[in-house]
Amino acid sequence: MNPELLLSRIRVVLCRPSHPGNIGAAARAMKTMGLADLYLVEPKRFPDPEADVRATGAVDLLQQARVVASLDEALAGCVFAVGMSARQRDLGPPVGQPRETVSRLLSEAEQGAVALVFGNETVGLSNEEVLRCQAAVCIPTDPSFSSLNLGAAVQLMCYECRMTVFAERPPVPAQGVTPFTSPAATADEVEGFFRHLESVMRATGFLNPAQPGRLMPKLRRLFGRARLERDEVNILRGVLSATQNGTGHGHRG
Ligand code: SAH
Repeated sequence: MNPELLLSRIRVVLCRPSHPGNIGAAARAMKTMGLADLYLVEPKRFPDPEADVRATGAVDLLQQARVVASLDEALAGCVFAVGMSARQRDLGPPVGQPRETVSRLLSEAEQGAVALVFGNETVGLSNEEVLRCQAAVCIPTDPSFSSLNLGAAVQLMCYECRMTVFAERPPVPAQGVTPFTSPAATADEVEGFFRHLESVMRATGFLNPAQPGRLMPKLRRLFGRARLERDEVNILRGVLSATQNGTGHGHRG
């Protein structure tokens, strides 16, 4: 199935979020990764200017967000739900790693809508809420501090979803071509430069032909790493010519 379509089948459900800022952050996190379907179960304050501010360009997701009274309502129509919890529960679905669980979530999304369910900032998900889910994820953290900010947890899971639907290679903006590039210098152009350089180094006394040492091999290494372009060879040779001619012709442009 088309990656964008699969992403559109993932609901992000926030259960009883206290801080509107986190709702905005979650919307932004979702939109950056190509998700759009946000459900809010009994948000403490929503809509709220703080949510809009934190959402910045993702206010449209907030406007379309569905506010519902229970997790059951938020999960209506879903074929699979993953509960996000930093804590181990005595009862509840098996706890998995984000990546492997997201892979399962996306294979379930072939069948219909699926959900990532997040808890309240202070108390997390209740046991009843976790029991509504078929899988659980604990984002691995430093064991001494395991609680991520709600928006950060949403971001991380949405990123995993995007990575997985695009088989670890989501498209990135095309590499801008530097407007100043010129074609790669050819072997004969580079050799012409080295001969020129060597003759100037001899003429100035920098290179003593009786004791050449490793000077030329080292310079070859240096320019080899640089992958010289034709324009660059011309500039370097221009510098050498100017040195040979005394001051004379400088670089123009
Ligand atoms: N103090 C709460 C954590 C609240 S953080 C608790 O002990 O559960 C808000 C929500 O972000 C959590 O309910 C959970 O859905 C998600 N979250 C934060 N850190 C997480 C982690 N390490 N693994 C999985 N989910 C996490």
